Order: sequence, then C-alpha cells, then structure tokens
Amino acid sequence: MRTLTRLCLALVCLFSISFAEAGEELTVLIIDGQNNHNWKSTTPVLKAALESSGRFVVDVATTPPAKAGPDAWNAFRPSLADYDVILSNYNGEAWPDEVNAALEKYVRQGGGLALVHAANNAFPEWDAWNEMIGLGWRGANYGDRVTLADNGTIVRASKGRGPGAGHGRQHPFQVMIRQPEHPIMKGLPVKWMHTQDELYHGQRGPAKNMTVLSSAYAAPETGGTGAHEPMSWVIPYGEGRVFVTLLGHVMGNQMPAMECVGFQTILARGCEWAGSGAVTLGVPSNFPTADKTQTGTPRYTTKGVTAVANVNTATHMPLQYKMKRLDGADANLADYRGKVVLIVNTASQCGLTPQYEGLQKLHDKFAADGLAVLGFPANEFGKQEPGTDTEISDFCTKNYGVTFDMFSKVVVKGEGQCDLYEYLTSEKTNPGFAGDITWNFEKFLVGRDGKVIARFSPRVTPGDPTLLTKLKVALAAN
Ligand SMILES: [Zn+2]
Repeated sequence: MRTLTRLCLALVCLFSISFAEAGEELTVLIIDGQNNHNWKSTTPVLKAALESSGRFVVDVATTPPAKAGPDAWNAFRPSLADYDVILSNYNGEAWPDEVNAALEKYVRQGGGLALVHAANNAFPEWDAWNEMIGLGWRGANYGDRVTLADNGTIVRASKGRGPGAGHGRQHPFQVMIRQPEHPIMKGLPVKWMHTQDELYHGQRGPAKNMTVLSSAYAAPETGGTGAHEPMSWVIPYGEGRVFVTLLGHVMGNQMPAMECVGFQTILARGCEWAGSGAVTLGVPSNFPTADKTQTGTPRYTTKGVTAVANVNTATHMPLQYKMKRLDGADANLADYRGKVVLIVNTASQCGLTPQYEGLQKLHDKFAADGLAVLGFPANEFGKQEPGTDTEISDFCTKNYGVTFDMFSKVVVKGEGQCDLYEYLTSEKTNPGFAGDITWNFEKFLVGRDGKVIARFSPRVTPGDPTLLTKLKVALAAN
C-alpha cells in the first residue's frame, strides 16, 4: 500500500502549470466499486492524474459491491448532471435501469463520458452503452471488429470473422497516433512508447461513428493478433462526447501502465475533450518518445505558450477539497480561495476548548478583511469530541456563540484520515509544515495565494502575538 500512496502523492503534488486562465475547472465523477482489476488502488491514481494537471476537480461514486441487495442499489443514484465528465473505472454487475437511463440522457444532452481499460468489459446487454462505447470486450460473435491497416485505413470484420476479445502477455509497446490533428492528440509525438500494459485485441461492438485516435501493433511474438488494434477512440452520442482508452491495466499494487506519462496525458486530454469539446492541456515536456518510456507526473506546457515557471496548482491544494458543513450541507473549500484561511481541528471537551472564544474574536475582528476561520471537529485526541454534528453545533452556539464556519466531524490523524488533513500533514504535499496533528486546536494558516504559510501548535492561542502578526501580514497581501 505504501508504494501506492507515495505514487498518488507524487502524482498530486509536482510540476503542474496553472490553467486558471483556461477557465473554470472541469468536474469529473469517477464511478467505481466493482472491477476485475484493483479499482480501490487505481481510482486514487486516476484522480491524482487528473487533478495534478490543474484542470479538474474529481469526485468518486462507488457502487455497492457484487451481490448486494436491492436496498443498496436503490441508494446508488449518482447525480451525473453535476459533472462535466463521467469517468468509468467500473467493470461489474449491471446498474439499475434508472441509472442507465440517467447516463444515456446525460450523454445525449451533452455530457462527457470516458472509459479506462476494463471499463469497456462491462454491460454487454446494454444496447445504448454499447453504442456509446463503440467496442467492448466481447466474444467474436458479438459485433464488428475494427483494426487498422499499416497506412491507418480502418478495416472492419463482421461478426464471427476473426478473433474475439483477448490480449497477449504484458509488455511495453509503441502507440501510434492516427489522428494527429484531433484536439486530444494534437502536438503529441506520432509514435510513443507505452510502459508495460495489456494490449487488448479483438474488441467487438456496433462501432458506429468511431474515430480511432491511436493504435498499437499486437505482435504475434507476444501473443497478439498481428494487427494494428485500436487503443483509443472517440464517439459522438447525441450532443455528448465519449472517449475510450484501452490502456491502463493494473493488478495488485504494481501499476506501470498508469505511471506512464503517456497514459496520464491521454486520460487527462481525453477527459478534457469529453467534458468541454476542447483541449487546453499542452504537451508534457516529459512525454515519452518513440523508443523510450517515461513514468512520473506529466509536466504540461500550455499550447502555443512557453511554459512559465511553476505557478503551481499544488499551492491551491489545501483548498481543493469538498467537505460537509456541520449542518450537513456540501462545502467546497475552493470557495475560500483568495481569502486568508485559518484551519483548526476542534473539540468540545478539551482543556483548550475555550480557544473557541478567541477564534470567534478573530472572526469578528478580521472576517471583513478576508479572514475565514474553519473549524473541523475531531475525536482523535483524548476522545474529547464524542458527540454528533448536531450536538457539536449546539455546544458551539450555546457556549461560545460561534458564527465562523464549522464543518462536519472528520478524522485528522491515523486510520480514516480525511483528505484535507492528509494533505496538511504529509511531507510530500506540505513539506514546510508536515507532521502528525499533535492535539486538539492545532492551526494552519493559508494565505490568499492558497499556500500554507504557518502552523501553530495547540497551545498557541488565537490571541498569540506571533499568530496575530502573521495573520495581519497575510491579510495585507494581495
Ligand atoms: Zn487488464
């Protein structure tokens, strides 16, 4: 697990260019929950690959496990319409008809759909799905097979002719871009080496309106078909756009296929296109070449613009997370960007609990100047926050008249640690101020530029002169 965590963090934190100027971030919903591959490990990697580009914010919807009862499935109703892109990392049981209908409607009305690797194995019985994805992992008698001639011409074989779905043994292989002018592929090397992966062959389906963007030669020596097999393609469906990549096989904790800069780039640009119809992410400076694989985090350059020094979405990372408020409402920490933010883990039964009073004073005095105090109740220290959100809320209001923003109880240390506190305490993401939370009322100060600029131990009170000085300097900054 440790290797994976390290990989995820490495993917998240380094070397991205800010695309704020390219407009709003696109919202992506990854659907997972069942897969013959290790979805629990790959979803965080997919999420990080997208978010590290600075172009996306990503949520995850997890289906019930296999063989779950109707109650569990009745509770699975992802709100697709809230997202620009649905990214399927799912290969499992059929979804409820209602969810299928919602997805069809979503794409038909202009939503983006993207699939990674075995996601195209799912739902052989769902006609609209098969139309949306073009080719799935199906038997030889299922539908048409599509390959490419050496010169890139599409070759179709009808049902029953040629092999059905399969793959040879895993190996690094060269990907050939067949539509270099398509926004997803534009500017990338026409041939590039992909790291070890499964090279799918014999995919079958209606294959209507497909534009094959890239292919790979499935060499007989590695158990392949001796044909150029499609590796990624796009399909219009109603007003929407579908992007499929067959790359990205991962079993266990080894994931060279997803560490590949090429894979992550194609994924991010494919999602960007599916979600917006355009691609602003440039060509990573560390993209693989025709004969050399490359792993790591893509270092994107803006298209037509010389890459500027790292303005860095990582600096905004503490304020990227979606949380719940104490009253259960959704909150997006991104809404606090541009303010000075004081993040505090609170508790109702601690010797330090009277700090609520000082925090409220800071709020009263500086909120108008742009300070946001954010309280996160947590029960990790002396079990001094055992109550429910409602009880915590009553306590804060009654005893301290708290009006600054309080959030639903989270875990700030150890098992179950929430994303925000993982970010704040990890050496990789917050190297200047990392380390476990030591007790209730630890404080992180975040500047208007989204960077963590100070950390104060629990015993440093809200009225402490050093804290006040740093706070005022931060408020004075643009
Ligand atoms: Zn696989």
